[in-house]
Amino acid sequence: MLKNCDECGKSYSDKANSCVHCGAPNQIIEEDKENENSIIWIIIIAVFTFLMLAKGPEVRDFFLNIFNQGIITKEDVSPCENNNRVNLSIKELFDGSQYALSQSLKAVSVNAETRPTSDGSLSTCAAKLQLNNGKSINILVDFKEENGNIMIYSQPDTEADLKDLGDYISKNKDLI
Ligand SMILES: [Zn+2]
Repeated sequence: MLKNCDECGKSYSDKANSCVHCGAPNQIIEEDKENENSIIWIIIIAVFTFLMLAKGPEVRDFFLNIFNQGIITKEDVSPCENNNRVNLSIKELFDGSQYALSQSLKAVSVNAETRPTSDGSLSTCAAKLQLNNGKSINILVDFKEENGNIMIYSQPDTEADLKDLGDYISKNKDLI
């Protein structure tokens, strides 16, 4: 089929990307491309929504981890006191752990204070986590820089915390 160019008025094939006479883009082809892009976006959003519904915690953790590495820098992790980024990172570390997810536990609030820094750490914090089940636990947290990322390592603060956290630790060896 031939169509008339919107710019110069001459006729050319409606299958061509642009007018052969003046080079003006073929609006029909442009609109088809836009529609294709919309369909691709709808598919991406549908797949993402499906994953969120089917595998919510895992997908959320995946994005939280990216987010975490994005927001926390060397400068953010010291001192521990009154440090929103430190508290948020510790909360996300705990909330995202298999232990917390499997027990539906969340840290309601985190209070961190500076401890003498361990070897190789940027910062060491003692953190008291108030949990949504009314209990509280204490962990020692080390922030370390590895391959440009800030990694967070945790361990129980005392024997009593070790008992409370035994399960948490056994399931989070990568965090110790
Ligand atoms: Zn033209």
